[in-house]
Amino acid sequence: MSKTADKPQVLLEHHLKALKLPTILAEYEKVARESAADGIDHPRYLLRLAELELIERERRLVDRRIRAAKFPAVKSLDTFDFLAIPALNKMLVLELARSEYVIRHDNIIALGNSGTGKTHVALALGLAACQKGFSVFFTSAATLVNRLMEARDGRHLSRLQAQLAGVKLLIIDELGYVPLSPTGAELLFEVFSQRYERASTIITSNLPFEEWTSVLGSERLTGALLDRLTHHVHILEMNGDSYRLKHARGSRRKATKVASDAPEADEVVDPDTGEIAPA
Ligand code: ADP
Ligand code: MG
Repeated sequence: MSKTADKPQVLLEHHLKALKLPTILAEYEKVARESAADGIDHPRYLLRLAELELIERERRLVDRRIRAAKFPAVKSLDTFDFLAIPALNKMLVLELARSEYVIRHDNIIALGNSGTGKTHVALALGLAACQKGFSVFFTSAATLVNRLMEARDGRHLSRLQAQLAGVKLLIIDELGYVPLSPTGAELLFEVFSQRYERASTIITSNLPFEEWTSVLGSERLTGALLDRLTHHVHILEMNGDSYRLKHARGSRRKATKVASDAPEADEVVDPDTGEIAPA
């Protein structure tokens, strides 16, 4: 091909870059060949390219939201075994995975003992919200409170508070493992106040509501916080056998069987970590 014949391509590619249409840039030649072979007219050719660009753009946006959410792991409901936790209302979880509660600014609280899949479900709902187009941020309660205290000491508390208030879905994992200082509890309370009826929050906790005072330190604060949090709330009851534990036991039992036919020794389970130790 001569230089002059190449010129429109060079210009086109330049313009596509300037217009930030990377998928059309990458695909237009291939789709042109396919369209010619299939006898597809120009509007349909353009339509195909525009669709490809849109699909790719949405995929990149979802990826970006997932990265911004800072999930410790990406988990979905596809890998969640509902049979392992009969206390959990499966229909409710599937309904929540549609993310419509985010539009209504409802909250979700998952309560239950350690290892029953609370974090897994919270991560899965977070992922679903990212896929539906909502901004999400995942943090543990302890990390969040530490960050709030640091921000306050560094005089950028209002910036952090504004960031947290702007997220469509804030997931606060593991409220209850660490008791909070009075200042920490106040700062956490402010986060809820600023989100109240404006944006959704998911909380997971190993403690029933009656025991939240032991974490937040004050009955007045706990009452005010629960008041806001539970105004529009979906409660996920997740008490049951620890999944982690059952699976650790399963593999241990298999290992024991292979090693010898001796009966299994009694095991003691650490209620906090779910670790198994021989009695
Ligand atoms: P919790 O937050 O309630 O302590 P996790 O969500 O951290 O429990 O669960 C512990 C581990 O077991 C995780 O790796 C999680 O993915 C897995 N798990 C828990 N419950 C289930 C389940 N019902 N189906 C599949 N995996 C599960
Ligand atoms: Mg957890």
